[in-house]
Amino acid sequence: MRDGIIPPGSTIGILGGGQLGRMTAMAAARLGYRTLVYSPEFDAISGQVAGHVQGAYEDDDTLARFAAQVDVITYEFENVPEATVVACEKHKPVRPGVRPIHFAQHRLREKEFFRKSGLGTADYQSIACEADLGKATALPGILKTCTEGYDGKGQVRVATKAELAAAWDRLGRRECILEALVDFDCEVSAIVARGLGGQTRCFPIGLNDHRDGILRTTTVPSGLPKATLAEAERLGVQLARSLELVGLVALEMFVTKDGGVLANEMAPRPHNSGHWTIDACATSQFEQLVRAICGLPLGAVDLLAPSRMENLIGEEANDWLRYVSDPTARLHRYGKAKARPGRKMGHVTYVNPT
Ligand code: ADP
Ligand code: MG
Repeated sequence: MRDGIIPPGSTIGILGGGQLGRMTAMAAARLGYRTLVYSPEFDAISGQVAGHVQGAYEDDDTLARFAAQVDVITYEFENVPEATVVACEKHKPVRPGVRPIHFAQHRLREKEFFRKSGLGTADYQSIACEADLGKATALPGILKTCTEGYDGKGQVRVATKAELAAAWDRLGRRECILEALVDFDCEVSAIVARGLGGQTRCFPIGLNDHRDGILRTTTVPSGLPKATLAEAERLGVQLARSLELVGLVALEMFVTKDGGVLANEMAPRPHNSGHWTIDACATSQFEQLVRAICGLPLGAVDLLAPSRMENLIGEEANDWLRYVSDPTARLHRYGKAKARPGRKMGHVTYVNPT
């Protein structure tokens, strides 16, 4: 097809075998696409709804065989090794490509990129060696490992230099970032799609509630002032443009007590705080990703009804009968066999919640 357009009937390849790829595959199927997932585990949950190739991210031969069977490739988590994406790019277009994960995989690079792109952040400093501990001024703060942290893992709150030194020890004396603690009013996220031609579209801004570092609920509309929402959207769109990505990017932000908006973290993929879009938006974030990477027009992002998404974490997903019995609840389970504490097992979206 001309101009990089990938028509329905084609096959989308997804690196990563989790729920985000699974829900992308389900949205892709509705538009008439096939999906092939690539991941190391033998029983990837997206393999329940799509084709699955089992392979290591370092296995170039298996990656090449996977790439030969698809028309475009995306990823559903930002910790895919850069080399894997580069290997795939030799065979097929990878959207959104290697640049967004280069920044999203590393918290210090990410914060520097935010600042360079004109997005405000909390004060931060690099903690890479013993000598950096003494120079720390961003206190009280949160010490975070630069790589591999998620759902509040790999981060410790510290108030003093002594606590900072102990925390750095606890995190394995790895390269870290110390971020000043933001006394925020609330947390929000913008999910922005950017298409092949550079057009952008931002979903309505969601209000996020985290507990123990894990997202618990997202509520839309957020009830925040128009100016705050416009600023959050502006930052999200600015980020998508600055990354020059084709696909989706989610930007998590803090709304400060004075109404300012600071960038916290980005993810160049569908995001947990956008799951409500499946049930309460004209286009879901997953369909929007498919549209963007296949070069289709981006879908409408109108909110169809107020909604609240609640994550089902660990044993909470065992309550499925309660959710399927509630006419305002829409249950989504991810097909995971084992409920471990802190593991995201599914979510419920309440449409028109009371
Ligand atoms: P991850 O989601 O990858 O675990 P985040 O940086 O988003 O890492 O941190 C998780 C949560 O911890 C945030 O959503 C927020 O509630 C809290 N948090 C993180 N950084 C800060 C900060 N600098 N100030 C205040 N709260 C923070
Ligand atoms: Mg986060």
